[in-house]
Amino acid sequence: MRRREWMRTVGAVAAASAWPGGDAVAAQGPGTGPAMLQTEIVRLNLRHTWTTTMSSSEYRDTLHVRLTRDGLTGTGEGAPIVRYKETAESARRAVEGVADLLRTRDPRHFQKLLAEVFARIEGEWAAKSAIDIAVMDWVGQSLGAPVHRLFGLDPADAPVTTFSIGIDTPEITRQKTREAEPYPVLKVKVGLDTDEATIEAVRSVTKKPLRVDANEGWTDKEVARRKIKWLETQGVEFIEQPLPAAMVEEQKWLRSQVDLPIFADEACLHASDIPKLAEAYDGVNVKLDKVGGIQQAYQAIVMARTLGLKVMLGCMISSSATITAAAQLSPLVDYADLDGHLLIANDPYVGVTVEQGRLILPSGNGLGLTRR
Ligand code: MG
Repeated sequence: MRRREWMRTVGAVAAASAWPGGDAVAAQGPGTGPAMLQTEIVRLNLRHTWTTTMSSSEYRDTLHVRLTRDGLTGTGEGAPIVRYKETAESARRAVEGVADLLRTRDPRHFQKLLAEVFARIEGEWAAKSAIDIAVMDWVGQSLGAPVHRLFGLDPADAPVTTFSIGIDTPEITRQKTREAEPYPVLKVKVGLDTDEATIEAVRSVTKKPLRVDANEGWTDKEVARRKIKWLETQGVEFIEQPLPAAMVEEQKWLRSQVDLPIFADEACLHASDIPKLAEAYDGVNVKLDKVGGIQQAYQAIVMARTLGLKVMLGCMISSSATITAAAQLSPLVDYADLDGHLLIANDPYVGVTVEQGRLILPSGNGLGLTRR
């Protein structure tokens, strides 16, 4: 399908440009002109079939948003999460439902604008994240500063990111592990009957530190305890979401039984979820697509820190738009799992890069993205 057939332009000004140009909007005084909003559903093709306990897929559709005003274009992206009944189309409807706000409000007053947007959209956190990212990219460009500088962060503090290995046969797991040679820490997906074979396949290739994500796959606390005790002998740094999110009491018990730190992912959607998790987990995995963007992620990070929890910044399968937006906050966190753009074959953007595992933030204003 051609790009033009998917693209929708909402409320374009007279001199609206076609995607991806974005530079033909009529010149206006600062903060005076109406904005142009564009949405596009982009199919991201995975380098390998991506399998977790949740699903198996060859591609992911994400919603891309472009907000053009005063000659500047902010780019955002949202990766809808099936678990929360989101689709790329539902995300697009949500964004287009607030087009009037995004076209007419001044994005430099982004706190007020985003509060109005959030009040109007029920659920649809990936859509909210796409809007927030586009607005913050625009604001950064407008102020002449990278987004991380708006938060007072030093890009030299950006952490190492893990590279994720999805669930597969032992042979392909070994191949993926070899392909991940440039990355010093791996995140391995488990949660099925094949867990031991998966870890043994990885360990047959590398001695690197591993982080393990069960994606709620172990539904029996005794099974989870036994698996984690074994993982403690396998050079694993921590485990993510071993039990289903709703099993908070069982999770407290599990934490008392093992030495490995345990992170909440599916149990932790928003900052408001975090206080009730503080006794059950050692840390939380914050993702822009769960919380609703950069501002909300910052709030979740502060909440977790206040409660003494470790913080990981994670991601869905996304392009460099979302990953670079998340990376702007990465100097604040203990661990990064920002590899969604590394798992796809047709990333439309260049933004954050990875050198020997470490996240390197682009120097440009806003997100600092360029089109490929
Ligand atoms: Mg996870």
